[in-house]
Amino acid sequence: MSRMQDEQAVENFRDYLRIPTVHPDVNYDECVSFLRRQADELGLPIKVVSPNPKKPTVIITWPGLEPELSGILLNSHTDVVPVYPELWDHDPFGAYRDDEGNIFARGAQDMKCVAIQYLEAVRRLKGSGVRLRRNVHMCFVPDEETGSFEGMAKFVNSEEFCNMNVGFALDEGFADPADIFILFYAERSVWQIEVHCPGTTGHGSLLPDNTAAGKVRVLLDRAMDFREKEKRRLENNPHLTIGDVTSLNVNMLKGGVQNNVIPPEMSVVMDIRIAPTVDHAEFESMLEEWCKEAGPGTYIEFLQRGIKESVTALDSSNPWWTAFKSVADKLKLNIKPVVSPAAADARFIRRMGIPALGFSPLNNTPQTLHSNNEFINDKIFLRGIDIYCQIIEALGNVPE
Ligand code: ZN
Repeated sequence: MSRMQDEQAVENFRDYLRIPTVHPDVNYDECVSFLRRQADELGLPIKVVSPNPKKPTVIITWPGLEPELSGILLNSHTDVVPVYPELWDHDPFGAYRDDEGNIFARGAQDMKCVAIQYLEAVRRLKGSGVRLRRNVHMCFVPDEETGSFEGMAKFVNSEEFCNMNVGFALDEGFADPADIFILFYAERSVWQIEVHCPGTTGHGSLLPDNTAAGKVRVLLDRAMDFREKEKRRLENNPHLTIGDVTSLNVNMLKGGVQNNVIPPEMSVVMDIRIAPTVDHAEFESMLEEWCKEAGPGTYIEFLQRGIKESVTALDSSNPWWTAFKSVADKLKLNIKPVVSPAAADARFIRRMGIPALGFSPLNNTPQTLHSNNEFINDKIFLRGIDIYCQIIEALGNVPE
């Protein structure tokens, strides 16, 4: 590709980074205008669908030669997390580029780079006369960073989504500081529980049986033992990553009114991320057993109870994976498939029975997403466009 084309892609990216689609209360107007200009330049149809006009989902479609076949969804979210500007070396919405080509901005990794890489890859393929068999839909969805409730969670149940007839989707991944491309094929399920421990109340000078604190002690013991076991399993097996084990953290302890009053209730709040291999019924029985051991009246309140997430197969049963893998092999990309430690929009797509992979071509890049001085190097960014060109072409031509 020509230097000029590369430079235009970088400038386009920097323009996108300068649009402050930052929480809270994101204004997406400027972002939608930007994407309209992109669609115009590409000569592709654009749709803005929004049951809530303040939360637009933008779809730019590159029609395929066989539009009756299922299409490819290239997904990116348009929002970014807040910043502490005083802790940044450069304006977080200035897209400053230093002498080494590092571009600093909120969203540089998560995930405005990917949005522009999709657009630039399609621009290059289309510009060189390539036609794909399948429709390619680039979707730009809001509010991923606040749980996707007004974004992908709703969008997958809309008529527009249904009409796209998506066969396979790409969504975001993670950067890796080594020469590794992280690939997410599954996610853990999030359970957040508050375990209530009722007990005998009374004067702080007495020694009654059946206290709330006695029950809390048992729960903390069981929880910390379980946590330790998972931690050791992770540390002792180099093939496992954090997404392969179940994490558990006790993040809140509640209860008590005064120093000299034995409280009638205390509670323990746990944040649990369940590995995709774990049976949810069995896991729940274990938690119930902890409550029984803690003592009478102890019960679990679910603050969040994620369903068992589906896994996208990485074997020959999945033709999309085969296509993706053949490109990765050809380009000698060192792909590392892992279970995602965090939640992304791909989970809503997988729940619809559609295979989805999380992939951001960010090798040799320190993870600065959600952090200060988030950045990407321009060479990594441009290399990503080349990678997407080949991946999109392969996916768009997957046989029926
Ligand atoms: Zn993201």
